[in-house]
Amino acid sequence: MTNIHIQQIPAFDDNYFWLIHNDQNAIIVDPGDAAPVLAYLNQHQLTLSAILITHHHADHIGGVDELLSHAAVPVYGPLADQQSGRISTITQGCQQGETLFLKELNLHFDVLEVPGHTSTHIAYYCAALSSLFCGDTLFAGGCGRLFEGTPAQMVASLRKISALPANTNVYCAHEYTLSNLRFALAVEPNNAALQNRFKLANVARENGLSTVPSQLNLELQTNPFLRSSSPEIIHTLQNKQKLSDVTDEVTVFAAVREWKNTF
Ligand SMILES: [Zn+2]
Repeated sequence: MTNIHIQQIPAFDDNYFWLIHNDQNAIIVDPGDAAPVLAYLNQHQLTLSAILITHHHADHIGGVDELLSHAAVPVYGPLADQQSGRISTITQGCQQGETLFLKELNLHFDVLEVPGHTSTHIAYYCAALSSLFCGDTLFAGGCGRLFEGTPAQMVASLRKISALPANTNVYCAHEYTLSNLRFALAVEPNNAALQNRFKLANVARENGLSTVPSQLNLELQTNPFLRSSSPEIIHTLQNKQKLSDVTDEVTVFAAVREWKNTF
């Protein structure tokens, strides 16, 4: 995939939209605002061919109407939100197990249903690019808040993501990494890979660089929401009386998530 580029478009305080292009055609993931997307397309003389949406929050779909007023392209998003009308702009409803083919870029995307942050959240995995576009499900060093889903649903969603190849690049939708890693260190202070990651992330941010995309491999080593079986995490939670002697994956995940909500 030598001619494919994945461009980060920063927006609002800490959002990232992802623009995938081949110097001619482009698709945009989660455009919460049209202006920075249109500016980039114009500046680089790219033609928009499709919009991909992961979930219904305004900072992910707020720019769709205006983009459509410039180009009537297909809008992919959760089938359930198309059917319920929660995202009225979706033209191609997507569900688990489906593979989209975006012919302008000659790319396939597998659809993963990953409920938890919202009840109908989906993610897009492109094997040819070793890349996952996961919205607000998995973050670098963290995961999305459970606004609509249960801990059990989110654990199942994160397990689905964890089963992808370890070299998968994780394109999440926010720069929350430093605060996530600060929390992760409170949960698992002796994790050497995590300590190292925190140092590198600090250097990156001090130099004005993004920490996203991340890599799944690094998430598996350092993200407390993927590490519910870590003895140190279980021990820390129990020490702080945030966990009883019930230590199954969902219970530990729920305790970590609960703690993060008020950290
Ligand atoms: Zn969201």
